[in-house]
Amino acid sequence: MLKLNFPFHPILFGLYPILFLFSNNLVETSLNELIRPIFFTLSIILSVYFIIHITEKDIFRWGIILSYGIFLFYSFGIILNKLGPLQIGDLLLDRFPQLIVLIYFIVFCCGFYLITKMHTYTDITKILNFISIILIVISVGNIVINYSLFIPVNPGKNFSPVLNNNSNPDIYYIILDGYAGEETLRKLYDYDNTPFLSNLSQRGFYIVKNSTSNYQTSMLSLASSLNSSYLDENLIDLDWPNRNDPKGKELVNLIENGYSIKFLKSQGYKFIFLKSGFLLTDFNKNADYTLNKYIFTEFENKLISDTPIPIFFYENTFSSLSGFFDRMRIQNSFEELSGVPTISGKKFVFAHIIAPHPPYVFGKYGEAISVSQNRSCEIQKAAYLNQLIYINNLTEKTIEKIISQSKKPPIIIIQSDHGSKFQEYCEINYDDKFLEAMPNIIAYYLPEYKGIHLKNNMTPVNTFRIIFNGYFNQTMPILDDKIYYNNTWYS
Ligand SMILES: [Zn+2]
Repeated sequence: MLKLNFPFHPILFGLYPILFLFSNNLVETSLNELIRPIFFTLSIILSVYFIIHITEKDIFRWGIILSYGIFLFYSFGIILNKLGPLQIGDLLLDRFPQLIVLIYFIVFCCGFYLITKMHTYTDITKILNFISIILIVISVGNIVINYSLFIPVNPGKNFSPVLNNNSNPDIYYIILDGYAGEETLRKLYDYDNTPFLSNLSQRGFYIVKNSTSNYQTSMLSLASSLNSSYLDENLIDLDWPNRNDPKGKELVNLIENGYSIKFLKSQGYKFIFLKSGFLLTDFNKNADYTLNKYIFTEFENKLISDTPIPIFFYENTFSSLSGFFDRMRIQNSFEELSGVPTISGKKFVFAHIIAPHPPYVFGKYGEAISVSQNRSCEIQKAAYLNQLIYINNLTEKTIEKIISQSKKPPIIIIQSDHGSKFQEYCEINYDDKFLEAMPNIIAYYLPEYKGIHLKNNMTPVNTFRIIFNGYFNQTMPILDDKIYYNNTWYS
């Protein structure tokens, strides 16, 4: 039986930020994502306890010091964000993160000194124990209540029996998040994307010239395209899809259990899922094989971003650790995609890559950059464009490897879920808003395709319909191309 006056509060205070963050990101985060942060936190705290035990220090006093350290560790980013950039005369402290760590270290030492001067530790231990229990109960309660409110819907479709055609090619569904359409790039970014698009055409890709996304957010767009159907009106009747809303949960469920995933699995395909790092597509229980497994998740990045750790990885900004891991994750995504042909059997690969979408972490040659969200519109736009140019480069190389290493020419779909959506940062004149949010990229590599004639203005809702009809003898009707656009989402 746990004694209430034993100092267990550091353990609960250490777990609290993880559970708190999780309870606020329930829909996009799976329980599995808790395992690593909880394991690391417990290992560190228990090791400290072990050291206290073998060195025969006062466990009550050291328990309080440990909780104080945990508090400073997790509140670091929050306090600094509240303060904004610190400036003394001409000296911008933002540029000297080590100095900020030093100040924090001094604060820690002062607190440490005060704690060691206390006369008794038992009362304060009881109080801290009590507070830590309350915090954990609230977070866990919040998680349990929210989970129990969520009744998963299963898009119960009937599948045709498994066809015995081992000859079907591998299918790569690559989503480049926020990749703008050709015309948008030319008009609003003054950039001619022809070299990239012609490179794809020369390889045999069909580029949908005036392609447009059906929806303007990742969540709506992916839920629709993976199910090859328009979403129920009540699901899109949201000002902004809230991920903790029951409707948001249903959308996430539609992505995880997309019709195309279930259909292709029923046809004997292995489902290869690329962990995006973005909570929406960071886990999929249907995956037979998960790529990008060992890179930090967005949940872990968020958790770390409030601690002093990022400061040691980069010089200018506090979200920089996130930049460091974002770079690693994006490059690794392409690298692992190039290796997919070596996996045996028929494969359906779903790779949602969070680029050129922000954060902007690459310059045009792939060099490390960091652009914080409060920079001017022009800086953000330039950063977007440079990241897009680098992504073009990675995409070209990856496709070349996939095609050259596949035994049978694969089907490759390169598509974006929406446009660049710069209204968040820039004043966009009314007429350009649509151009900026909706036109996307759609490029199909369809070897030996014998389906319907491909048009110039297709939308993602029909992508898998074309493929299933053209390669799997399905008779799915081609839907009218509808665009759900709400210009008030970015006012
Ligand atoms: Zn998106």
